Amino acid sequence: MTNLKKWDIIVIGGGLAGLCTALHLANNNCKVCLIEKTDYPHHKVCGEYVSNEVLPYLQSLGIDPFSIGAKKINKFEFTDKSGFPLNVNLPLGGFGLSRYAFDNLIYQTLKNKATIVFDTVEKIDFDKNQFTVSTQSKTVYKTDFVVGSFGKRSNIDSFLKRDFMKQTSSWLAVKSHYEYDLPEDTVALHNFNGGYCGLSKTETNAVNACYLTTFKSFKKYGDIKNFQKKELSKNPFLEKFFREATPIFKNPLTISQISFNKKMPVENHIFMVGDSAGLIHPLCGNGMAMAIKSAQIFSNIFLKAFQNNSFDRLKLEEAYTKKWQNEFGERLKTGRLIQRVLLNPYASKIGFSMARAVPSIVPKIIKKTHGTKSL
Ligand SMILES: Cc1cc2nc3c(=O)[nH]c(=O)nc-3n(C[C@H](O)[C@H](O)[C@H](O)COP(=O)(O)OP(=O)(O)OC[C@H]3O[C@@H](n4cnc5c(N)ncnc54)[C@H](O)[C@@H]3O)c2cc1C
Repeated sequence: MTNLKKWDIIVIGGGLAGLCTALHLANNNCKVCLIEKTDYPHHKVCGEYVSNEVLPYLQSLGIDPFSIGAKKINKFEFTDKSGFPLNVNLPLGGFGLSRYAFDNLIYQTLKNKATIVFDTVEKIDFDKNQFTVSTQSKTVYKTDFVVGSFGKRSNIDSFLKRDFMKQTSSWLAVKSHYEYDLPEDTVALHNFNGGYCGLSKTETNAVNACYLTTFKSFKKYGDIKNFQKKELSKNPFLEKFFREATPIFKNPLTISQISFNKKMPVENHIFMVGDSAGLIHPLCGNGMAMAIKSAQIFSNIFLKAFQNNSFDRLKLEEAYTKKWQNEFGERLKTGRLIQRVLLNPYASKIGFSMARAVPSIVPKIIKKTHGTKSL
């Protein structure tokens, strides 16, 4: 058993939130250890449309998504279940980039600046103002501060007995890449009974198709092929897509038990960033930007204390919780409301009619789930 205490902070989980936190802190002379369970690069279930909101911050970290071919996106196409389209310009715009490439780009920038360990964390204990982090390979790490960036649902959430794990969640998601002729400046969202499917181009020119649905809708059809053919394809846009597109992955990637329930930004003295702190409904297309932004918020607060060498744990926790709530509280509420409207057949009919009559309300609603493009 190893006993190591040589880092200012340990970051657990190397998705976008963890990678950006580790990079931001390492760029500012912190000794950082990042523990991630899967080697890079790897695909993830995600819509792969990133809001420009975080572009200045990414650039400040030395990350340029366009250097690896990210597609500039400034148009939004939205269809209702019958395929009736609504096209608007995106207020901020964004870019299309696969998680395979995006996470790996940040990892490559980080890898010589921090200690990166590939292992699965099993336990995080806090005692006498110190953390003990234990991994599957029986390594034990000691540190004063821990960042939890282990995503929307992890074995660590069970270990910590977090409240949201006690509630059931019926959401599942499917994602795959396809060869298909989709305009590269457009992100599309197509509604179907029980869910919605996003389409956008990535750096390889592949179209990423990612849909979220309820287990109740899915189980009637038994398998992905049948579900896509018989349910998603009731929307003519999706019918055309699944008929004409050529799959690139051997099999689609799937995840289940996706929870949108409330979480706390600090639990057991662990600073939660990204989805570990809260997940916005994916149809808002803003989870990645929020994950990256929460890394920025946490890092700025932590660095202030680090640079003054004065850590008051409870004050740090209070400051982070307050800033997190101010930044994301309203967005999450709006996301929940949009989700409810879109999945209720009656409410979504009214919502679509209103949006058709006054299309300018769509960018206004989008703005309510996004922040501003600033450092
Ligand atoms: C269906 C769907 C579609 C989406 N589409 C979009 C979209 O188009 N645009 C957008 O902005 N957002 C989208 N999102 C949201 C977005 O994917 C997330 O908000 C984002 O991935 C959060 O990043 P993260 O770093 O918090 O978590 P993750 O990217 O999930 O990273 C968590 C990391 O922690 C690691 N980990 C977990 N447990 C352990 C452990 N015990 N030990 C070590 N490592 C561990 C995992 O391996 C993983 O790498 C979508 C989400 C879903 C579900």
